[in-house]
Amino acid sequence: MNAIDMDKVRALESLPDDELENRIRAVRAQYGKDICLLAHLYQRKRITQLADFSGDSFGLSKKASEFDGGKYIVFCGVRFMAESAAILGRSDQEVIHPDPEAGCPMADMANLTEVQKAWEAIQGSGTVIPVTYMNSTADIKAFCGKNGGTICTSSNATQTFKWALERGQKIFFLPDEHLGRNTAIRFGISEKDIAVWDPEKEDGGQAGAYPNAKVILWRGYCPVHQKFTVRDVEHVRRFYPKSRIVVHPEVPKEVAELADAVGSTGFIQEYVKNQTEPGDELFIGTEINLIQNLAADYPDRKIHKLHRSLCLTMYQITLGRILYALENIENFERVVVPEDIKHYSRVALDRMLKLV
Ligand code: SF4
Repeated sequence: MNAIDMDKVRALESLPDDELENRIRAVRAQYGKDICLLAHLYQRKRITQLADFSGDSFGLSKKASEFDGGKYIVFCGVRFMAESAAILGRSDQEVIHPDPEAGCPMADMANLTEVQKAWEAIQGSGTVIPVTYMNSTADIKAFCGKNGGTICTSSNATQTFKWALERGQKIFFLPDEHLGRNTAIRFGISEKDIAVWDPEKEDGGQAGAYPNAKVILWRGYCPVHQKFTVRDVEHVRRFYPKSRIVVHPEVPKEVAELADAVGSTGFIQEYVKNQTEPGDELFIGTEINLIQNLAADYPDRKIHKLHRSLCLTMYQITLGRILYALENIENFERVVVPEDIKHYSRVALDRMLKLV
C-alpha cells in the first residue's frame, strides 16, 4: 500500500466541487458494483448524495456486508465506523477510510490499557457486565465481547441495560458518560446508584462509590454533543415559545431533561418526518450536517440548530479526499482489524443483535 500523497490531496481539495463530483462519478462508473460508497449522516449533503447508502454507523456496516458486490467499501465517516465495517464485512471485502487520521475523539477517550485497569479495580462486589457504545474502538468492543458484555447503539441502549442487569449486578458503561447516565435514568436507576470512573485519576476518582454503584460510567464525552447547555434551551424557550426541542442522548442530562424529545439519529429523522407539520418550528441538538440535511429535506418546516455543532473529524472527509482514495483504490491503505479483535467484537455484536 502506498503512503498518501498529501500534496496531491491538497491539490484535489482546491478543485471546484462540481468537478470533484464528476470525477468521483467517473471512477464509480468504471468500478461499478465493486465499490460500495457509504456516508454517515453527519457528512455534508454533497457527500451523502454520492453514496450508495447513508445512515448511522451500524446500519451502514450491515448494508455493506449485504451489498451485492462491494469488493471495496469506502466509508465516509470516522475511524471506528470504518473499523465496524471491517468487523461486519465479508471476507472478500476490503474497507477504505478516505482519511485514516479522522478518528472520533469520544471513542479515543477509552483506551484499552486504562479500561483494563479500571475493570480490575471495580471487581469484587457482584458481577459486572461491560457495555460499550457503538462509538468505540474495535479493541474496546472486543474487550466487552471477551468479558461477557455487549455493544449498544443510541436507539437500543435501554434494552441493553435490561439485558445486562439480568446477567449481573452492575454495568460498566463505555465510553460516553452522558449516554450512559441518560439511559440509566430512563431505565429507572437513581443518581445515587451511578458512579463515574475518570481515567485521569489514579483510582478513578470515586473509589468509595464503586462497590455499591449499579452503573459505573466511563468519563468520556462527545465534544459536539457535550456543548449543548441549559442556557441554549432557555434561550429557545424564551424567544421561540411555540417551537420544540429535540436532542440526541449524548447531550448532558440537564439538557436532555428539558428537551421535548430525546433520541438517536434515526429517532430524530423519524420525529421530523412523522411528528412535525408544515410551518412547525424545531430546534435540534445534534451534529450540524444532520440538521442541515433535514432542513433541506423539509423546507416547509423551520428547522434550526440548538447551538453550533460541527464534528471536526467528520468534516475531515472531503470530496477531494474521497476522490484521491477512489483514484488510488488499488494501493490505498486498508482498514485492518486483527482476527482476535474481530472475533470478540463479533461476539459482543451478536449479543446485541439478539436484542433487536
Ligand atoms: S459527533 Fe461526537 S461521537 Fe460522533 S464522531 Fe463526532 S466526536 Fe465522535
